[in-house]
Amino acid sequence: MIKSFRQLSLSAQIFIGLIGGVLFGILLVGAGQISDSVSVGITNYIVPAFDIVKRLFINALKMVVVPLVLVSLICGTCSLSDPKKLGSLGGKSIALYLLTTAIAITLALILANIFDPGANITMEQTDYVIKNAPALTEVLGSLVTDNPFKAMASGNMLQVIIFALLFGIAISRAGKSGEKIAEFFDALNDVILKLVTIIMHIAPYGVFCIMAVVIYEVGFEAIAKLAIYFLLVAVTLVIHAFLTYPTLLTLFAGLNPVMMLKKLRPALLFAFSTSSSAATLPVTMEVCRKRLGIGKTTASFSLPLGATINMDGTAIMQGIATVFIAQMYGVDLTITQYLTVILMATLASIGTAGVPSVGLVMLTMVLNQVNLPSEAIGMLLGIDRFLDMMRTAVNITGDATVACIVSKSEDDFDPEIFNDPKAGFDFEKVEEPNKA
Ligand code: ASP
Repeated sequence: MIKSFRQLSLSAQIFIGLIGGVLFGILLVGAGQISDSVSVGITNYIVPAFDIVKRLFINALKMVVVPLVLVSLICGTCSLSDPKKLGSLGGKSIALYLLTTAIAITLALILANIFDPGANITMEQTDYVIKNAPALTEVLGSLVTDNPFKAMASGNMLQVIIFALLFGIAISRAGKSGEKIAEFFDALNDVILKLVTIIMHIAPYGVFCIMAVVIYEVGFEAIAKLAIYFLLVAVTLVIHAFLTYPTLLTLFAGLNPVMMLKKLRPALLFAFSTSSSAATLPVTMEVCRKRLGIGKTTASFSLPLGATINMDGTAIMQGIATVFIAQMYGVDLTITQYLTVILMATLASIGTAGVPSVGLVMLTMVLNQVNLPSEAIGMLLGIDRFLDMMRTAVNITGDATVACIVSKSEDDFDPEIFNDPKAGFDFEKVEEPNKA
């Protein structure tokens, strides 16, 4: 019997939305070529209408990110029996995030040197306007906010994370008053998670509109021109996702990587279509807790941290792009310069916000360090939209892998949930808000 659309699992619904959006986008491109008036009609009416749904959907996701991170992290911290655990949780998460990024960028540089993506490509004049990447000292110096409301309003995730940690520690040490506040935040956390589930209802439609608009506006022509660069980044991303992460997960946690990747599907589809690890965070957190068995404390600490500082996919793009640009200009990078690229891309990935295209802006930081002209980034703009989708999916896979390893080693992990193929099924089916 054929199931109705709403009876399908959430992943299936989003997947259909994604493929439908791509096909519809291609249809729009084709229709736009029929005549000028059709093309004007599409550009002036259809695309803006789709754009509204796209923006509503992404805004709805972003709307819950700050409250979710703040509240779940406060709950996670104040439920910790031993505050020292926070140190080991943080230490392990950060060390693993840095390790995976360093592996990613090294892999990217090795493959770029084997396949020479920039050989035989001539530099084109572009009108790319260089935006300056924020200085590292600035990022470090503003880790603690002078105003938590400002940090929340501007969505500065690192500042929100640090505020929530301190607030949670204070609650856990405030005796009876702290207990009352902790209870309040626990209840608030449940409500926010329910809000996430409600937003899931529009995901398939949101994803459909995003894909249709992207395909219509960006098109595929740019890919053909830079096919080798595009393929190399894509293949390296796939290798990192299907080889590096599974190896680390098996080695450090003894967990089945196929199970993890399968269960991560809804979050991967979200990341792919929104190109934003930050907007995907509510879904990543839900999936990690309900389907992968990652405990509350680890999930609420490691995942927001990962969505902010761990961007392996971005580092891969930056490594290959640097070699590509160097080859285009006929510059031979020295060993010291390669090491500089590894260091800078790792730092750039920490400083990259989890929103679309920021990785490309941060690439200026890497290029400046090895004296390559940042204008060359203009050439990559056309295809970066598609690569951004793929690298964002890799970025969140990295976050989930590290969170699994850390939660297992911190004993904040439920193997039964992880090994149960049906775990988190409610979330898959998208509960009706009034019945839930
Ligand atoms: N879009 C990426 C993310 O959100 C960041 C980037 O590489 O531009 O993870």
